[in-house]
Amino acid sequence: MHTPAEPMGRSLDLSEKFNHLWHLVGNTPMLEIYYQYEGIARSIFVKCEHYNLTGSIKDRMALYILDQAYRQGKIHPDDTIVEATSGNTGIAFAALGKALGHAVRIIMPNWLSRERIDIIQSLGADITLVSKEEGGFLGSIRRSEELALKGQVFLPQQFENQYNAEAHERTTGPEIWRQLDLINKKPDAFVAGVGTGGTVMGTGHYLKEMDSCIRVHPLEPAESPTLTTGYKVGSHRIQGISDEFIPAIVQLDQLDAVVQAHDGDAILMAQKLSRELGLAVGISSGANVIGAIRLQQQLGIDSCVVTILCDSNKKYLSTDLVKIEPLRADYLSPVITFTGYRPMPRLATHPALI
Ligand code: PMP
Repeated sequence: MHTPAEPMGRSLDLSEKFNHLWHLVGNTPMLEIYYQYEGIARSIFVKCEHYNLTGSIKDRMALYILDQAYRQGKIHPDDTIVEATSGNTGIAFAALGKALGHAVRIIMPNWLSRERIDIIQSLGADITLVSKEEGGFLGSIRRSEELALKGQVFLPQQFENQYNAEAHERTTGPEIWRQLDLINKKPDAFVAGVGTGGTVMGTGHYLKEMDSCIRVHPLEPAESPTLTTGYKVGSHRIQGISDEFIPAIVQLDQLDAVVQAHDGDAILMAQKLSRELGLAVGISSGANVIGAIRLQQQLGIDSCVVTILCDSNKKYLSTDLVKIEPLRADYLSPVITFTGYRPMPRLATHPALI
């Protein structure tokens, strides 16, 4: 029996260690956000993923991948966890890896925010930064695979690992369904920006299983529409989504139409959520809210549209998120006014702990 005095070290029984960690990951708050658009009062629903252990949605898949790897004997206590990432995944694996007693090496492009690098280093993980000339994001993935050839390495491979999407199928999806059910609602649509695609594929799969009429939309930056074109075009400022390619996890034929958000609009929407509601979130959360509002405009003002607040604004304090962003006529945020929110009841049982 575990007592509070016992450390999270290797002496604890493994399943108990994972249970402890699941108490800190997932089962997040969900809000109904009220807003005015074209003089009409409306609302959308958001899952607050900045409440996870390291403050982002990526904790769910990192913990689930490690949990599965231990169950199946694919990771050994002395393995170094090596992952190529655009930031949040690195922070998640660094924290969870340390909690489980592993060395962690994170390989990431050198143009991502300084805060991401500092946080990963503060967790005692090693960092390798890869420039555009050295191959950028794809170069980071190549390097992680080269390191794995040397042995004693566990490679989560978030872009192709089926457990990434399954984490959301087993936790995010059921949580959304049950939290809405507690107020007698059912979702009509779900939208989420695509990094690895784990969130949109896994959550979407669960929701479509519950009701095949639920629409599931991936979102991409309008400046860099990788999902629409199939390859890297342009550049954008919505860190964490649309990296450089369509990940193996993403099956566009199982999803509804791609929704777009301009990066400047996403910055303005994130600023607005912070200034008008006190929800200090990151840029991809702003993009997701734009996607949700645009979808609701298409589906009808009473439709129940759900999206994700992926992380907080703390990792973007050196970016354009805290600067004055120029307005444009085709942006949505300037014509939206947030008027308040109410929390959904929290679930009494965590889907991962049942
Ligand atoms: N927003 C942010 C800030 C992220 O870090 C990520 C993950 N890269 C996403 C959105 C997209 O999540 P997923 O990888 O599940 O598609």
